[in-house]
Amino acid sequence: MNYDILVVGAGPAGLAFATALASTGWRIALIDPLREAELQDPPEDGREIALTQQSVRTLQHLGLWARIAPEHRAPLRRACIFDGPDPKPLVVDARSCGANELGFLVSNHHIRRAALAACASARGGQPAGDFYFEDRVVQAQVEPDVAHLTLASGRQLQGRLLIAADSRFSSTRRMLGIAATHRDFGRSMLVCAMTHERDHAQSAWEWFDHGQTLALLPMNPDPETGRPRASVVITLPAADIEALCHDTPEAFNQAVAARFAHRLGAMQLQGQRHVYPLVSVWPERIAAPRFACIGDAAVGMHPVTAHGFNFGLLGVSTLASRLRRAAAQQADPGAFEPLAAYERRHRRDTRSLYLTTQAIVGLYTDERPAARTLRRLALRAAAAFPPFQHRIARALTA
Ligand SMILES: Cc1cc2nc3c(=O)[nH]c(=O)nc-3n(C[C@H](O)[C@H](O)[C@H](O)COP(=O)(O)OP(=O)(O)OC[C@H]3O[C@@H](n4cnc5c(N)ncnc54)[C@H](O)[C@@H]3O)c2cc1C
Repeated sequence: MNYDILVVGAGPAGLAFATALASTGWRIALIDPLREAELQDPPEDGREIALTQQSVRTLQHLGLWARIAPEHRAPLRRACIFDGPDPKPLVVDARSCGANELGFLVSNHHIRRAALAACASARGGQPAGDFYFEDRVVQAQVEPDVAHLTLASGRQLQGRLLIAADSRFSSTRRMLGIAATHRDFGRSMLVCAMTHERDHAQSAWEWFDHGQTLALLPMNPDPETGRPRASVVITLPAADIEALCHDTPEAFNQAVAARFAHRLGAMQLQGQRHVYPLVSVWPERIAAPRFACIGDAAVGMHPVTAHGFNFGLLGVSTLASRLRRAAAQQADPGAFEPLAAYERRHRRDTRSLYLTTQAIVGLYTDERPAARTLRRLALRAAAAFPPFQHRIARALTA
């Protein structure tokens, strides 16, 4: 089959990208090994995605936001950053720049569901492209005039542009021989929903404690009991996370309440615990003739700064706007210049936070006395300098 664009991966980035190009009239194919039923109704995966206001606008523009029910969007009004036992956090408050919220938290499975629904009706009620689900790419090759894909089913697809949206461990990127720097942090992240006694006041917490990093992301109250509810994120060496995962729910509830120094009162697990090994990825290139990477395949962020999908949406907007211009001029979608421009721009937009995130993780997991002193001083200096907090709030709400 011949297409203009082949998109490998129907995750939120691949689906948003196909939706953003629906108006071009280009023939698009989307390939994913998951079953259609699983993409239409994805299982909970424990991720609560903090979306900036800019991402919310992109989702509105793509018709995704309206497909996320208001009760599934939790406003984020404040972010508090704690260091060790110091009870005084650095606070970033949306009100400091006249906004109601810094952004919204939405469960990843709701984003995925909305992304498929929007993509499936993006062309005047018709799908943005042809879906090849329950099939995977086993071979990818790019020639000067055409990209070729072989799927596990034996299907052969050709396209003028090949897009890798198949996660940070992108096998498509690898098949094209593009190297990537992986940093394995040697830690895992446990995420789960918990109800708790004390209200979180729609505040997120990041707590760099000694030997553990904890986060709390405000969710809307439990619809059945009305109790406050949050997504709890615990980062520890992999073996400790395994042990926590196998605790009985009762033992787990007590262990987590104690890890949070009982600041939230009694806590109760809701649903499953999910574990993610922490590996960040920076590919050597994200564009080549007839090829580009988007989403996590372009930048695999450590989740601590909550920017993976925000960067994914930013990249989708950057690349799609260049390609829409090419379509208006009836140009070849695989021409290198717009892809190279996307690479330059997206690298510039993401590099500094990618590197800062690595530095933050390095500093806040280093338990040597000098590192502890340095981070305490850094956080105190930032807390005593309101323009710094105001700048972060403005960046999130802009
Ligand atoms: C614990 C956690 C918390 C996070 N919190 C935040 C947050 O607060 N804010 C934020 O912005 N981001 C956050 N993120 C990051 C966010 O989840 C990701 O950036 C986002 O889900 C990536 O979307 P994607 O479409 O690029 O990739 P994925 O969601 O990984 O989708 C990739 C798709 O490719 C498919 N695929 C794989 N291999 C093949 C193949 N060979 N052929 C065809 N298809 C293939 C897969 O089936 C999948 O559907 C968090 C991540 C984690 C782990």
